[in-house]
Amino acid sequence: MLISVVIPVYNESELIHELYNAVTKALTNFTQDFEVICVNDGSTDDTLQKLQHCHQKDKRFKVLNLSRNFGHQAAYTAGLTYAKGNFIAMMDGDLQDPPELLQAMYQKAIENNADVVYGRRTERHESFFKKLSISSFHFIFNKLSNIKAPPNVGNFSVMNRKALASFLALDEKNRYLPGLRFFIGFKQDFVDYSRDDRSIGEAKMNFSRLTKLALDALFSFSKLPIRVCLWLGIAGMVFSLFGGCVVLYKKMIGEAIVGWTSILVSIYFLGSVQLLFMGILGEYIHRIFVETQNRPIFIVKDYFED
Ligand code: UDP
Ligand code: MG
Repeated sequence: MLISVVIPVYNESELIHELYNAVTKALTNFTQDFEVICVNDGSTDDTLQKLQHCHQKDKRFKVLNLSRNFGHQAAYTAGLTYAKGNFIAMMDGDLQDPPELLQAMYQKAIENNADVVYGRRTERHESFFKKLSISSFHFIFNKLSNIKAPPNVGNFSVMNRKALASFLALDEKNRYLPGLRFFIGFKQDFVDYSRDDRSIGEAKMNFSRLTKLALDALFSFSKLPIRVCLWLGIAGMVFSLFGGCVVLYKKMIGEAIVGWTSILVSIYFLGSVQLLFMGILGEYIHRIFVETQNRPIFIVKDYFED
C-alpha cells in the first residue's frame, strides 16, 4: 500500500526543514511505503534548493518543480497528477494541517471503507478577520451552491486511487478543489482536528488570492449569481409596468408629476443595476472564455523523482 502525500509550497524556505522532519516522522509511524511530493509553485526564494537538498537525503521525498507560480489549487492538481500511491493525501506545507493526523485519516479510510476522508476543523486559531471572512464564505457557499459541502473543511484529506481518478478527470480551469472533491461523491468520511495558526512565515494565500478562490467556488458551484439577474429583472419589469400605468393615469386626469429628482434617482439606480448585471454576465463569459482557451492548469519544469 503506497501512500502519497502531496504538499504545495510557495516561498516557504524557512519551514522546509521542519516540514520534512514532521512529515517523514508522522508517516514512518504507520508505514514504510510512502512518497512525499512537494510541489514548488514557482517560489522566488531558495525553497527549491532546500527541497532538492531533502530529496538528495531521502528519495522518498520527491520534488515537482512548476515553471512558475500557478496558485495553490493548481499546485495541488499538479502533485495529484504525479502521485502514484494507492492512497493519496493533500496537505498544506505550512504545518497548519498536522501531519500526525494522516495516520488517523488513512486508518479511517481502511476501517470504514471510505474513499475520501477529509479533516474537519473543530476550531481555528487564526486572526479574527480571517476567521470571519472564511466562515462567511462557507455560510454563503453552503446556502448558494448546488452541492452540500460541510463547512470547516479545506484541502486536507486522504483519498484512494478510485476517487482520485474521478477527481482528476474533472479538468475545469477555475478550480475549487474542496467543492470538486464533494462533487465526485463516493463514500466520504471525516476526522476532526483543531487548526493551529502558522508557526513560521506569513500566509501565502493573501486576501486577493482568497477572494479569487471564493469567487471561483461560488461561480462554478452555483447558478445563483445569474439567477439573481433574472429574478430582479422580472421583478423590475412588473414594478415598472405598474408604475407606468400609474403615471399614464395621472397624465390622463391632468395631474402629471413635476420634478426631476425621481427621474434622476431612478436613472442612477437602474444604471447601476444594469452595470452590476453586466458584471455578472461578464464573469460568466470570462469563465467560458477561460475554459475554451483550454490552457493547461499547470506546467511542470522538472520532476526530481529518483
Ligand atoms: N501556496 C502555493 N501557491 C500559492 C500560495 C500558497 O503553493 O500561490 C502554498 C503555501 O506555500 C502553503 C499552502 O499553499 O503551503 C497554503 O497556503 P497558506 O498557508 O498561505 O494558505 P492558508 O492557510 O491561509 O489557507
Ligand atoms: Mg496556511
